[in-house]
Amino acid sequence: MAQKNLNYGFPTVFGRELYSEFKNFVHPPFLVVTMPDLWPLFGHHFDGADHQVYFTDSIEQGDLDRDAAGLTDIGAVIGLGGGQALDVAKYFAWRRNLPLFQAPTALSVNAVYGQRSGVRVDGKVIYRGWAVPEAVYIDYDVLRSAPRHLNWSGIGDILCFHTGVLDWRYAEDRGKIEEKWRFSDGLAQQSLAKVDQITRHVDDIRTLNDEGIRALIDGLQWGTSYHGAGWCPRHIEGTDHFLFYTLEKLTGKKFLHGQPVGLGVVVGSMLHDAGTETMLDIIAGIGLDVRPEAMGLTWAQLETGLKAMRGYVNQVGLWHSIAHDTDISDAFIRDLKATLDKAYAHRA
Ligand SMILES: [Zn+2]
Repeated sequence: MAQKNLNYGFPTVFGRELYSEFKNFVHPPFLVVTMPDLWPLFGHHFDGADHQVYFTDSIEQGDLDRDAAGLTDIGAVIGLGGGQALDVAKYFAWRRNLPLFQAPTALSVNAVYGQRSGVRVDGKVIYRGWAVPEAVYIDYDVLRSAPRHLNWSGIGDILCFHTGVLDWRYAEDRGKIEEKWRFSDGLAQQSLAKVDQITRHVDDIRTLNDEGIRALIDGLQWGTSYHGAGWCPRHIEGTDHFLFYTLEKLTGKKFLHGQPVGLGVVVGSMLHDAGTETMLDIIAGIGLDVRPEAMGLTWAQLETGLKAMRGYVNQVGLWHSIAHDTDISDAFIRDLKATLDKAYAHRA
């Protein structure tokens, strides 16, 4: 496979006081898609501009189709917020064929560097649409002013490359790989380089200095390689996200994305017996707490989720991973608890 040095990312602008410029260049009248709690913080940047505001409250595809059809006289869309507002902005830009400008106010989940929107149909997540932003605006001071753990959560969507690649190689070695997604070492190495970059910037990401924000963004930009690799997700995610999907299905809880995914990275690393300590050093060192109690889960709920994961991934038909073949034992769960307790013992 000749996939070395795949191009990735969207045009991205780093700077300060970026939002006050929108009214000077975004095609008027424009639509700002945001959340009600964010508008009091950022609305003043749009004073005097010809604009409308849309507050996100649903990501059901039917609701979004209805609201997209109701948009009148809009020249462009600005997404302003975390995951959901950016996904809805993408969706409207796609449905109405409008220029899109993205302004993430936190990096909790990688919604900004993907062409498709995560929307729901009857409560089930599907990825739909196509939107490439004119530019993504990364304002250092805006990100730094958000609650820290929201940005730390973003490492989940980068560290999952570690477990994604492990599962990819695992499936290839066992003859369980999909023919269209045969293992590519070049692509895998590019993913792992993004993980290494996080390893080298633990302190920068914890303090969220400019260098830390740039390291996070570079890792998140690799999310667009899902499309670049021909919609192959193999170098990007595996057991990490599969645990999250299982827990979400089981509990119906709304998680801070990086917590269950980060826990999935730990669980996947343990199953593969590869890099568990390194991953936990990064996660706990940055400050992201992936213990179940930190995300409102009891150990009993997590145990149920871990034991249900094998059945769930097989039933849903997710791409083959170590989770498809492994029954989680009581000993594994005891080991996981001890490993997590140790990693967070001196950080409480
Ligand atoms: Zn994710």
